[in-house]
Amino acid sequence: MTKTRHLTILGSTGSIGESTLDVVARHPHRYQVVALTADRNVEKMLGQCTRFHPSYAVMLDAPSAGRLEDRLRAAGLDIKVLSGIESLEKVASLPEIDTVMAAIVGAAGIRPTLAAARTGKHILLANKETLVMAGRVFMDTLKQHHATLLPIDSEHNAIFQSLPSRFNGDLAGSGVRRILLTASGGPFRKVDLEMLETVTPEQACAHPNWVMGRKISVDSATMMNKGLEVIEAHWLFNAEPEKIQVVIHPQSVIHSMVEYIDGSVLAQLGNPDMRTPIAHALSYPERTESGVQSLDMFKVARLDFEFPDFKRFPCLRLAYEALAAGGNMPAVLNAANEVAVEVFLAGRIPFTAIPVMIEDVMKSTERQNVPDLESVLLADLQARATAREWLACNTGRIQEGQYPHSVPDSKTNNPHTF
Ligand code: NAD
Ligand code: MG
Repeated sequence: MTKTRHLTILGSTGSIGESTLDVVARHPHRYQVVALTADRNVEKMLGQCTRFHPSYAVMLDAPSAGRLEDRLRAAGLDIKVLSGIESLEKVASLPEIDTVMAAIVGAAGIRPTLAAARTGKHILLANKETLVMAGRVFMDTLKQHHATLLPIDSEHNAIFQSLPSRFNGDLAGSGVRRILLTASGGPFRKVDLEMLETVTPEQACAHPNWVMGRKISVDSATMMNKGLEVIEAHWLFNAEPEKIQVVIHPQSVIHSMVEYIDGSVLAQLGNPDMRTPIAHALSYPERTESGVQSLDMFKVARLDFEFPDFKRFPCLRLAYEALAAGGNMPAVLNAANEVAVEVFLAGRIPFTAIPVMIEDVMKSTERQNVPDLESVLLADLQARATAREWLACNTGRIQEGQYPHSVPDSKTNNPHTF
């Protein structure tokens, strides 16, 4: 009989968190939810607690935790309510759990995800920012504590499925020529470049194929999401940047591919629904029902591929540059991007200022090694401060429409072609 997995779901009220609970609910004998966490959405957390009866619920701050506690008591539910980052670390490392779904968005996810690694958990990783910011530290921690990792990001899950089952981190030894990382191109793939300056947060969040949280939706529109995924693939599969080719594939049916030296290209296909990679990782190496509809090839009818344009998507170039630089640079890229996306969503900077802000922050930061979590977190904090300074300096010019628009496009073509 299949062993029951005992789960902590970090970020259970988000898009990935809800899809995870949807899959879990289909297999009540396989999965037991021990802890759920959210930022401040008390209503949604109450609904999840009522349905899944976890032992712990963690909220971001004490006021939200207090409100949840009152509501749970009124409902007669005996669930321990906690708050704060230490509590997130605690529920990610409870002795009674074996598996952690890491689905908090952004840098906030790094400490609990690392806590899960330090306690040897089986980690299902959606929070790509952990790998982007602290790839070396995280991978070393996993190894040291015999923790295991499966990727939830659909592309990386597809690559994992397309690699040999015995893959041990040696791409060349496995006969792999390159990884083909697919990208939808987001909502602005065909929009006139001049129009990009005036696009709204709502337009940026209206992804053509996927329904996701707002931050990752903006990242898909700038293609920073793909840039972060290049860095994620580098760490997950021990792949040098020149072995990772981004391919724009607007239908989002092929979730990524692996090309072998004999010319074979293996791909994983499916409807764009995160419940597929979530169900795959939850039940691995078995397969379970996910609720995802069968892929209708006749309806899909055709699959298109395009070369990524660095001029339209400067964020993708910046991510390759951060990966090549290494050290603190991917963390700086990520932090500057989080600030840029936040202020774009708040209507304070235009869409086209996002890469300008990130590039300026990267240029004004000295490259340093980040050998431990503390140095990663410091790099993150400093880059956020630099990004806020950039905003303070440029707000007046932005309001007059005079901020420096274009990122110098010395390398407008993707150098990583074959
Ligand atoms: P989301 O915004 O929908 O949900 C984020 C979750 O994190 C929520 O539960 C929220 O309460 C919690 N959270 C936010 N800020 C927090 C903080 N400071 N402290 C504690 N908790 C906090 O995001 P999402 O789209 O579900 O994405 C989650 C992660 O998965 C991201 O790293 C994203 O890049 C990755 N991912 C998402 C998708 C997708 O389809 N949504 C696909 C691939 C990867
Ligand atoms: Mg993805």
